[in-house]
Amino acid sequence: MNAGETPGSSGLYHKLNLVKQLLPFSSVQPYAILFIMISIPYSVYIHIPFCRHRCGYCDFNTYAGKEDLIPPYVSALCREIELVSRSVGQRLPVHTIFFGGGTPSLLPIYGLQQILFTLHDCFDIQPNPEITLEANPGTVSPTYLAELHELGISRLSLGMQSAHETELNLLERQHNLEDVERAVDWARRAGFKNLNLDLIYGLPHQTLDSWLHTLKIALTLAPEHLSLYSLTIEHGTPLHRKVQNGTLPAPDDDLSADMYETAIEQLETAGFAHYEISNFAIRDQNGHIMACEHNLQYWRNLPYLGFGAGAHGFAGNYRLSNVLRIPSYIQHVQNGKVLAFPFSPATTSHTRIDQNTEMQETMMVGLRLTREGVSKRIFLKRFEKPLEIVFRNEIKTMTQNGLLEWAGEGGDTLRLTRRGLLLGNQVFMQFIGSSS
Ligand code: SF4
Repeated sequence: MNAGETPGSSGLYHKLNLVKQLLPFSSVQPYAILFIMISIPYSVYIHIPFCRHRCGYCDFNTYAGKEDLIPPYVSALCREIELVSRSVGQRLPVHTIFFGGGTPSLLPIYGLQQILFTLHDCFDIQPNPEITLEANPGTVSPTYLAELHELGISRLSLGMQSAHETELNLLERQHNLEDVERAVDWARRAGFKNLNLDLIYGLPHQTLDSWLHTLKIALTLAPEHLSLYSLTIEHGTPLHRKVQNGTLPAPDDDLSADMYETAIEQLETAGFAHYEISNFAIRDQNGHIMACEHNLQYWRNLPYLGFGAGAHGFAGNYRLSNVLRIPSYIQHVQNGKVLAFPFSPATTSHTRIDQNTEMQETMMVGLRLTREGVSKRIFLKRFEKPLEIVFRNEIKTMTQNGLLEWAGEGGDTLRLTRRGLLLGNQVFMQFIGSSS
């Protein structure tokens, strides 16, 4: 498959839109819609909201000291998966599964096994699915990693963040560099051939040199994939309070931009393909970029189901999110019943996505893909409208300003320029509230 192609989307959105014009979505069960729905491969996100300790910069939906809730939470997850899948009446095809958190590596193997069994029971899991699990380096052992691999987890994502003890302490991470090195070694011995390391830059007191050292150490660990995140000081976190009261300096945006640009150069020199604003991957033996297929589903604005406390989903023309707190989630699911797809008893908010919004969102997320961008051909198939007409004004302004360019075969791909990469948010905002 070429990088610019969208898996399984060929012609399906066209057909789906056609059927929707004939049948209101509220009468959700018509056979025709189901037939089309089951032809699109879905992604599944499973949220594991447990952590041993809450890191000082974190505002994710995760809770420390609640491990006693893991068994009922796993049961609730399985029930939610069953209820949502029964609302379809058919086994939807699923090609990627992502255990995110929180700290999914806090789940015992039998808990993960239970969830995977349920997913296999309820969905048509495609051959060789990408199954990712996020792990905290300090929470794994050789046996645990070997069992994960045995279970079919094919991709491991380790939160390394930094190679420096001082920076890890500043972030209140519960691991050190040795934990990361050991975890990588054990993962390789267990048979993992697809490893990601998460790194953070733009920290208070961090210098360009210390960041380059972190990158160098990360490269010596030979991961297939690297995700680089610029630190955001989230409101209400301990780190935010320290910056507010002057205990720590606020991140320096110019220095962060330098760190980002230098990282791109270093990683490209090391043979990594920069395929998304924050993500880099090597190529496999066939020359295929080892991108995270699950995240590609988000960036291509394709459907995914989210299970668990605070999980989000995008399916059946709705964006949905689940209740945040673990006890409420368990209660909602235990007392719940089958609803119309894609709703779950844990859904607390939903937004209907009309075609205009979907087109805007497709631009917002698709332009994050630095190579693939947004394809005119795929956009036309999906929406039956030409991209260059729908967003004529935005594209004209952004190309004139040197932020967007047409590339690829026959100029089919709209993507960010090198300058646009640094001003991505400015570009994405242009597409919000536009089109007709
Ligand atoms: S381990 Fe990750 S999810 Fe858990 S508190 Fe730290 S940053 Fe947040």
